[in-house]
Amino acid sequence: MVLSDSIVFYNTRTRSKEVFRPVNAGEVGIYTCGPTVYGPMHIGNVRSQLSADLLRRFLVSEGFAVTHVINITDVGHLVSDADEGEDKMELAAKRAGETAEEIAGRYIDLWRRDRQAVNCIEPEHNPKATDHIAEQIDLGLKLEEGGYLYRIDDGIYFDISRFPRYTELARLDLEGQSGAGRIDEVQGKRQPADFAIWKFADPDERRLQEWDSPWGRGFPGWHLECSAMSSRYLGDHFDIHTGGIDLATVHHTNEVAQSECAFGVHPWVEYWLHNEFLDFGGEKMSKSKGNVKTLSDLEERGYDPLAFRYFFLQAHYRQQQVFTEESMEAAARGHSRLVALAAEVRQVGGEGDSAAQAPFREQFRAAMADDLNAPKAVAVLWDVLRSKTLSKVDQRDLLLAFDEVLGLDLAHAEPKREQFESDPRIDALLEEREAARGRKDFAEADRIRDALASEGIELIDTPEGPRWRRG
Ligand SMILES: [Zn+2]
Repeated sequence: MVLSDSIVFYNTRTRSKEVFRPVNAGEVGIYTCGPTVYGPMHIGNVRSQLSADLLRRFLVSEGFAVTHVINITDVGHLVSDADEGEDKMELAAKRAGETAEEIAGRYIDLWRRDRQAVNCIEPEHNPKATDHIAEQIDLGLKLEEGGYLYRIDDGIYFDISRFPRYTELARLDLEGQSGAGRIDEVQGKRQPADFAIWKFADPDERRLQEWDSPWGRGFPGWHLECSAMSSRYLGDHFDIHTGGIDLATVHHTNEVAQSECAFGVHPWVEYWLHNEFLDFGGEKMSKSKGNVKTLSDLEERGYDPLAFRYFFLQAHYRQQQVFTEESMEAAARGHSRLVALAAEVRQVGGEGDSAAQAPFREQFRAAMADDLNAPKAVAVLWDVLRSKTLSKVDQRDLLLAFDEVLGLDLAHAEPKREQFESDPRIDALLEEREAARGRKDFAEADRIRDALASEGIELIDTPEGPRWRRG
C-alpha cells in the first residue's frame, strides 16, 4: 500500500495521526460504547453514534468487512464514576415504579428509533450487559488468578498499582487528583482510582438486579461489561474502539487495565477514536440540569432528524461543535437545499463518464481518509452539485456514491412539500379567478388576485393547480 492511498486516524493512545493497518487484512472490528438505558439519548450522545457510523460507512466503502459492536448498559453504571452512589438503572426504575427491565426496554427501543432516524447502520452485535453476566464473571476470575483484585466490604476491586501502564491512554496525573474533593470515597480502597469489578448487594436493601457470583451476590462494575463483550464478539485484540472523549479518563482507562491484564495483550485496542462534545453555547448540556435536548425535541420543532446528521457532518468529530438554534437552523436550510438538488439529479438516466468523475471521487476519498474529515467531504459534494462542467448524470453518480459514506439517505429523501391552506371563501375566489382566466377575462383575474393580496394572501402556481398561503 503506497502512502497516498493510506487511511489515517488520530489515535488517542499515541496522540498522533497514524496510518490505519488492520489486525487482520481486509477486516475491521469496531467497538463503540453505547447507551446507559435509563433515559432518552441526548443529542451529544447522538453525535457519538454518528461519529462511529461515519467511521463504519467509510471503512465499508474502502472494501473492509466491518464487525461493529455497540453495547447496551442496563446494569452497574453508578451515578458517580467513583463507584459510589446508586445504580442509574435502579434509581430510574424506583422513580418510575417499574422494573429495571421495563425501563431498559423502553429506552432501548427509543435509542434504536433515534439511531434509525439519523440513518445509522445497525451494528452486527448490540449486546446487553445483563445478557453477559457469565462472561463478566469469567473475566473477573481471570483477573483474580493474575492477582489483580482485592476484596473489601463493598466489593471486589482492581488494584491499579498492579498495572503500570494505567495512566497511559488518558495521560492521567494520578498524583494531582488523588482523592481530591471526593467526600463519599469508598472505604478501604488502596488507591482512589481503583475500581469495582463486582459490587456486593446490600443485604438490607433488595436490589432489582443482582446475581450470584464466586465472590457473593451482587452485580458487575460498569467497566467490566465492555471488556467482556468486546472480547466475546471481536476477540482479545482488535482494531478500533470509539466513544465520547468524556469516557477516556475513567471508563476507557479501566477497560484497558482489565483487558490488558486479563488477556495478556498490549495494546489491547490498536486505535482509540474519541469524539468531542457538542457545545451548547457555554453551558454543557446535561441531564441533571433538566435542559435535555433530544432528537424528539428537535423533531417537535419541525427539524428532520437527517438535518441533524447534516449539522453533525459540518464539523470534524474531534472538534467541539457549537449547537445553537441558529446553527441548527442554518444546517436545516442547507440540508433541504441538498435534498431538493438530490431529488432533481437522481431522476436523470444514462451512463456516467468515469473520467470526469474521477477527480471528485479522489478529493472526497482523500478528505475522508484524512481522519474522517467530513466538512471537507461535504464541501466536495457541494462542488459536484454546483459544477458547471459535470453532466447531471455524473452529478447523480457522485452524489449517490458520496452519500453511501455521508449517510443522508439522498437516494430517497423527498423535498418537503409546501404547506398550503384551505378556506371555503378563498378557495371559491381562486376558482372564480381560474374561470376568469379560462375565458381570457384577465382584468377580472387580476382584480381577484389584487383583492386577495390586500388581505395578505399569496397565490402560488403548483403542478396541481393554484394554491394559496398567507404571506
Ligand atoms: Zn464502554
